[in-house]
Amino acid sequence: MQENLFVTKATMPPYEEFIEAIKPLWNTHLITNMGKYHQELEERLRQYLKVPKLSLMVNGHMSLEMAIQTFHFPEGAEVITTPFTFISTTHAIIRNHLKPVFCDVKLSDGTIDESKIEELITEKTVAIVPVHVYGNVCNIEEIQRIAHCYHLKVIYDAAHAFGVEYKGKGIGSYGDASIFSFHATKVYNTIEGGAVTFSDHKIYEQLYNLKNFGIQGEEMVVDIGANAKMNEMSAIMGLCNLKYVDEALEERKKRYEFYKKNLEGIKGIRLFDRNQEASNNYAYFPILIDDSYDKSRDELHSALREHNIYARKYFYPLTSDQECFKNEYRNAQLEYARCISKKVLVLPLYDTLEMENMERVLDKIV
Ligand SMILES: *Cc1c(COP(=O)(O)O)cnc(C)c1O
Repeated sequence: MQENLFVTKATMPPYEEFIEAIKPLWNTHLITNMGKYHQELEERLRQYLKVPKLSLMVNGHMSLEMAIQTFHFPEGAEVITTPFTFISTTHAIIRNHLKPVFCDVKLSDGTIDESKIEELITEKTVAIVPVHVYGNVCNIEEIQRIAHCYHLKVIYDAAHAFGVEYKGKGIGSYGDASIFSFHATKVYNTIEGGAVTFSDHKIYEQLYNLKNFGIQGEEMVVDIGANAKMNEMSAIMGLCNLKYVDEALEERKKRYEFYKKNLEGIKGIRLFDRNQEASNNYAYFPILIDDSYDKSRDELHSALREHNIYARKYFYPLTSDQECFKNEYRNAQLEYARCISKKVLVLPLYDTLEMENMERVLDKIV
């Protein structure tokens, strides 16, 4: 039997290096509560991601939930978002007692269709939560124009877009805030982790309170916060991984180009378009299986599985169609999102993926 091949494999620093890096913790016993390593990683990531301000968090989901919370939107207000994403995006909106209003996406790159946003705006609309899905950059200018015109906030889910730059700026510097995920399955990880990026310093203070129970001093609690701070062990993992992230991105790039070379032009297989003004972080390799391919997406998914290749249907079903929402947010207008979600398959891609395993994947598809 051939070894199991998954879509991703966590990037890890050399073992000895990590062990050496965590040794000081056994002297100080200071293993959490916004310590030395938390502060250091926060600053290093701020520079790496080329953003004005950054708040380090326990994971990507809480980053989004708390980023939305800092705007104090009224209960029941509407947020325009995409259903073609990980369930976290939608949950973060609903858990803030807001109503997701799903907008269709573009066939070309899977991001929210900016030309369909305005028709969804009502007097209850307060924000737009778009997703740079697979690291594909949304139409930032048009979204900004709409937001400005209708006085809406824009909070980007940039969980897939670590390291992506657009027009020479960090992707996290656009909109009112953006969130990143440093989960083990992402391009860059802190085991579990995340961050919110923004430019308004008031957001930093609010997030600081939200992620640490609103505690301001030994005897002073100023806000009804929760607990969403990153611990020192994770911060050290992040510092170690950050040293190697550029190398890891280079390795991903080679593999991405190899897939692209072999799959481009194959009848019935389509790749998403990429914005030429945005850099690529090679986070995922999604392919779209059209009717002219000799198998359906699901048949190809099963065929790969028989050979221990676990390609994933990211993202299927649409979040709007999930069981837990009991059809409350169903929207018939999601034609292209439904179409893509029925055709998409994400192939294994990570920095240490072996050439023979890439050949294994390609053999089953081409
Ligand atoms: C991974 C992910 C999240 C959540 O991040 P976690 O760190 O796993 O909490 C949110 N949105 C998208 C699009 C994601 O892929």
